Amino acid sequence: MSEMQFPESRQPSHSRHPESPQAEPRGPGNAKVKPPLILTNALIFSLTLTVALICVPWWGITHGFKGATWALFGFFLVANGMSITGGYHRLWAHRAYDAHVVLRIFYLIFGTMALQNSVLLWCSGHRRHHLNVDDNELDPYSVGRGFWFSHIGWMLRDYPSGVPDFANVADLKRDPLLVFQHRHYALLTTITNFGFSLGAGWLVGDVWGTFFLAGVARLVLSHHFTFFINSLAHMWGSRPYTDDNTARDNPILALVTHGEGYHNFHHIFAHDYRNGVRWWQWDPTKWLIASLQWVGLTRRLKRTPAFQIHRALLAMQFRRAQAKLAKLPETARAPSHIDQLRHRIAQEYEAFAAAVSDWTRLKEQWLEDKKRAVIEHWEQARFQQRLREIEDGLKMQRRRLRSLHAQLA
Ligand SMILES: [Zn+2]
Ligand SMILES: [Zn+2]
Repeated sequence: MSEMQFPESRQPSHSRHPESPQAEPRGPGNAKVKPPLILTNALIFSLTLTVALICVPWWGITHGFKGATWALFGFFLVANGMSITGGYHRLWAHRAYDAHVVLRIFYLIFGTMALQNSVLLWCSGHRRHHLNVDDNELDPYSVGRGFWFSHIGWMLRDYPSGVPDFANVADLKRDPLLVFQHRHYALLTTITNFGFSLGAGWLVGDVWGTFFLAGVARLVLSHHFTFFINSLAHMWGSRPYTDDNTARDNPILALVTHGEGYHNFHHIFAHDYRNGVRWWQWDPTKWLIASLQWVGLTRRLKRTPAFQIHRALLAMQFRRAQAKLAKLPETARAPSHIDQLRHRIAQEYEAFAAAVSDWTRLKEQWLEDKKRAVIEHWEQARFQQRLREIEDGLKMQRRRLRSLHAQLA
């Protein structure tokens, strides 16, 4: 989900691999050659990790950390994380809502401090990830190439799959704030990382302690928590909405990623401002975006219609039921019982298909009437009521299917 290399160190793909922009370079004998190491990234990752593992415990034991230093560590960690999830990811990469300039500047400052490259580079890679998810040649951090590659390896070497192409961020290039951040990224990230932690340390009277904890350890944690979305959130968890890709829903990952662990939902409904769509799912980013609406800092929040969510869940339930049925040996249980289950599932599927077509027809009619401005107020209410009834029908159907699943187990 993130990209770290400094903008000026990468060239457009066609200038380096004119014959095949996405092909892995090959050496003598047609053997695959590893692309060159990106030294800046390798040094940043290894140095910050070493300092965090050695200097933080050493300073803690010999000097101790003040309460104010811990508070700064927490604040920077959350501000960096939420600027990536709420800003880089949901606002800029997916345009899931609109944000006031004050909020955009906040996201830019603390997102720059998170050291995950400029918004333009980050979003370009992330949009490519969504479009080509799991494609080892085109997805910049495809999990098909293993945990290490999708977590951090893709940023350590100059892989053809990671070469930026800004054609997919034309909308973002029109924002002068984002262009400014992109042009001066190296300077801005140095100022925010060193300036903020050293300055804050001076203010609380513990320059080195604050630098180690709120500067370096904060950066390492912030990095790896984000990187988990590209690696673990494509490997570990459930797939309730779709199994067309590797993305998983994982409430444990949601805890450390400000809600982004609900990655299976996110990959199917990427323009929704929520990742944890149920009200109880831990997604502080969605709560932040929704509550800032009250003070006018966010607006036009995009929500997936409930019907589409139920439809995706049900489609997966049917798919799983079919797979379980197919695996059941005819002799394992009373054949009549299996036949009965098969029949009930087929009936449910018919009802599901009918509800989907009813809903689609009704929605089309409603939009058409609205466009022609012939719809009366009471008619609108009637349409809405009917749509809600179909939605409720699907909710009931999910419950019935759950009990059928239990019988199939
Ligand atoms: Zn993903
Ligand atoms: Zn995304």
